[in-house]
Amino acid sequence: MQCPRCKKNSNKISTEKKSKKGVSLERTRVCECGHKFTTVERIKEPFITFNDLDDDQKAIVDLLGTDRVIFKKPNPRSQWKFNRLLTYGYIRLYTNYPILGKLLKFGKKKYPNKKVTELFKHIFFKKIKNNKYIGIFKYEENNKKREHIIDAISKKESVKYLLETTNYWESKKVIFPNTKDHSNDKEKMNKEAEEIYHSINTYIKKPPFNEPTIFTNAFEEDNPALKYFNNNEFQRIFLSIL
Ligand SMILES: [Zn+2]
Repeated sequence: MQCPRCKKNSNKISTEKKSKKGVSLERTRVCECGHKFTTVERIKEPFITFNDLDDDQKAIVDLLGTDRVIFKKPNPRSQWKFNRLLTYGYIRLYTNYPILGKLLKFGKKKYPNKKVTELFKHIFFKKIKNNKYIGIFKYEENNKKREHIIDAISKKESVKYLLETTNYWESKKVIFPNTKDHSNDKEKMNKEAEEIYHSINTYIKKPPFNEPTIFTNAFEEDNPALKYFNNNEFQRIFLSIL
């Protein structure tokens, strides 16, 4: 081991300490030059190969490429985090479909010849005060820039909706078999909502969830939104509501 100060290899181990679970070993070394330094030896986490993945995970790798996704052996907590965030993404879009629909309808009136994908360029979602969301259609009229604004569904409302779906509790039960459906217990529901809300705010803007196409795994094949997921403007809109 090279000394970080004199760059020579003339050092001796003075003490050695195992971590509690035995996964790492800490060694203090003393160099001829008098410098003391510590090294940590750790067992590399076991990574699984493509063939060990389940079908959903394979689909994600196909979508993003192996260099973008590294699967560690899944533990229930991270698996649940992943599933929960994907489902949230789906519900978030689903609950805002009517708003998107209204904005598109308005846009079609202003620009009758534009295709849906072109109208997407005019649409923006944004958070305003008190965690409220609005949908905006930007357009020009008489050489003036104008905005058509309608209220959108807040994140908290989407989370509430998510908790009301039986699918949410069933998929949780698959990963945590002891899960009980709390839909009748207001206090437990609030706690679950807080937990989801926290999870969203912590992870939804980070990889792999900053890649909209990953959410296609949460959609049924016949969902009309699926055909737009490769559209850049749709992706921008989708990320702005998450
Ligand atoms: Zn040294």
